[in-house]
Amino acid sequence: MNSRYEVVIGLEVHVQLTTKTKIFCGCSIEFGQSPNSQTCPVCLGLPGALPVLNQQVVEDAIKAGLATNCQIAPHSIFARKNYFYPDLPKGYQISQFELPICEHGWMDIETEELGKKRVGITRIHMEEDAGKLLHNESNSSSVDLNRACTPLLEVVSEPDMRSSEEAIAYLKQLHQIVVYLGICDGNLDEGSFRCDANVSIRPWGQKELGTRAELKNLNSFRFIKQAIEYEVERQIDVIEDGGEVVQETRLFDPDAGVSRSMRSKEEAHDYRYFPDPDLLPLQVSADWVERVRSVLPELPLVKLQRYQDEMDLPAYDAGVLSAERPVAEYFEGLVALYNNPKVCSNWVMGEVLGALKEKNLEIIDCPVSPELLAGVLQRIDDKTISGKIAKTVFEEIWQSGKNADQVIEEKGLKQVSDSGAIEAIVDEVIAANPGPVAEYHAGKEKLMGFFVGQVMKASKGKANPGMANQLLKKKLAG
Ligand code: ADP
Ligand code: MG
Ligand code: ZN
Repeated sequence: MNSRYEVVIGLEVHVQLTTKTKIFCGCSIEFGQSPNSQTCPVCLGLPGALPVLNQQVVEDAIKAGLATNCQIAPHSIFARKNYFYPDLPKGYQISQFELPICEHGWMDIETEELGKKRVGITRIHMEEDAGKLLHNESNSSSVDLNRACTPLLEVVSEPDMRSSEEAIAYLKQLHQIVVYLGICDGNLDEGSFRCDANVSIRPWGQKELGTRAELKNLNSFRFIKQAIEYEVERQIDVIEDGGEVVQETRLFDPDAGVSRSMRSKEEAHDYRYFPDPDLLPLQVSADWVERVRSVLPELPLVKLQRYQDEMDLPAYDAGVLSAERPVAEYFEGLVALYNNPKVCSNWVMGEVLGALKEKNLEIIDCPVSPELLAGVLQRIDDKTISGKIAKTVFEEIWQSGKNADQVIEEKGLKQVSDSGAIEAIVDEVIAANPGPVAEYHAGKEKLMGFFVGQVMKASKGKANPGMANQLLKKKLAG
């Protein structure tokens, strides 16, 4: 934290929705298709083609609004944002301006540095994306309009953040929410979640905001943090050198780790917004909002709290298990079948997530379902197998898809609780280790662990460890 200046950050995030079709026509929005193969008169911007609003986009906007505590406007307006660029054949982008669908929301974030904080969300509005320019080697450019008319939500925050760390906490939480809601795939590389950061500084205690710079082209959390920190230093230098920060748009260059001015306020566009005469004002009834509210999933922060309060899990476990919806669903599925949340948590965080990571798989593709895993845990409980053998059983289930009972049976993994059989092994172990036995008799009782280990090893993990312990004690004492 700088001793002389306070940092002020406001963020604009573009969230690309995962609808089947575009916002104003029936074309697919699938990524990576051949150029201009997913177009029609509407998204090509041909004269006279009329946009028709995709209802799913409105529902997704309502979901995002409700999840971020916004008010949902009963009446909102689509507007034309006019500018010229070759990837925008209509000469305007359809967006929302004066009456957006969501306003006055907030999210609570937390950072180590500054603690808990409520960040205001000014608005969330719907808009269409533009196409893409492909710059060819021959100094010419081609236009791909597959992305034109792809549905976006623009989420605009209040200038409430005071450090790059807070900005990242806000972005990660917003990212988590839209992915949880199932309205965005969250892929930063493919541009599904894009952020512009507005940054200014002001002397501590000053009420008015300083002049801001807007940073663009930030497509990873790491770059966003770097770009903000670079910008803060740059503005401090400008002011300390007796200069003034000018309002401008700057482009971050991740390779060089610096940003460069793209355009100043004087060069900024005048978009001449006006209501789009091709689209009726949008009416959203209270009924509709309630219907959407009733199908919202439980959100990650609520789960995080519930796992701690109701399931008594440590904050760390609750955080790992609630961070991604498919993981939370797997975990909750397991707890529903085996009602010991801490044991379930240990297995999901340890064996399941570990094996998935090693094999580079997502949890929805996990070969060991919650049902199969619950079967393993029950066999530990009824002492058919030890906790250690359970890990072998888990691996076998992973490979074969068979259930715990089948694996235990076929591989002969059942715990040995026959005292005669264990006694024989105990005798062998004692006979094979005269040195440690002598030390044990001389008072080194810690060696009991070693003996139990030897018995488990000799029985390939199948001896009942409690019985092994008892028998060893008896024999070594005698
Ligand atoms: P524009 O649409 O021209 O980018 P807005 O007024 O909509 O301008 O502001 C966009 C973003 O900039 C918002 O997230 C807002 O919080 C943030 N912002 C506005 N003023 C400042 C400032 N002085 N310092 C930091 N962020 C700011
Ligand atoms: Mg802006
Ligand atoms: Zn189309």
